[in-house]
Amino acid sequence: MKKHPFYLYALLLISSVKINAQAFLYNPMAGEELVDYTVVNYVDWDENGLHDHECGSKTYDGHQGIDFTLASFAAMDEGHDVLAAADGEITFVIDSLFDRETVSDVSKGLGNYIAIRHTNHYYSYYGHLKQHSSVYEVGQQVVAGEVIGQVGSSGNSTDPHLHFELWFDSLYVVDPFLGECGNGESLWLDEITYQTEFSIW
Ligand SMILES: [Zn+2]
Repeated sequence: MKKHPFYLYALLLISSVKINAQAFLYNPMAGEELVDYTVVNYVDWDENGLHDHECGSKTYDGHQGIDFTLASFAAMDEGHDVLAAADGEITFVIDSLFDRETVSDVSKGLGNYIAIRHTNHYYSYYGHLKQHSSVYEVGQQVVAGEVIGQVGSSGNSTDPHLHFELWFDSLYVVDPFLGECGNGESLWLDEITYQTEFSIW
């Protein structure tokens, strides 16, 4: 079995990494942006301080993924689907953890999460999922857009959100967004708008 990539934090140097792939990702959140959810944090590109792919501050220090956030625990209780961002094989499922965390605790990590290995050597991770919401087991194949679980607040989480994280070959984190302070190309097939207004949330 492959070592879980979160052991490799020390190797991360995302700013020096070329993405080396065609766009292949669909938006992993069901629903409509700014109606059902908003993106509140992007990948941090700065090794010392912080900045996101658009040179803004919509991230926090060391953040390695993208946070798609629901408006409330009520929205989580209604059930908000998380979708496979691309075709692949399920390589990891944790599904049994408490899912109403409201206090940040780094030691709790992604909480309930799913990992998918894609055919182009990329892995996608879907963190903080709702307890017992995972649809698949390790080894099963999924198709892009299929429901794989639901948004929760398990792990190191203060409110219901999906933390989506992308790795190349378990070696390093990749930011799928194109941006002036980020990558020169996008890995998204879906347009996901860069959000600068979070006040309504
Ligand atoms: Zn996150």
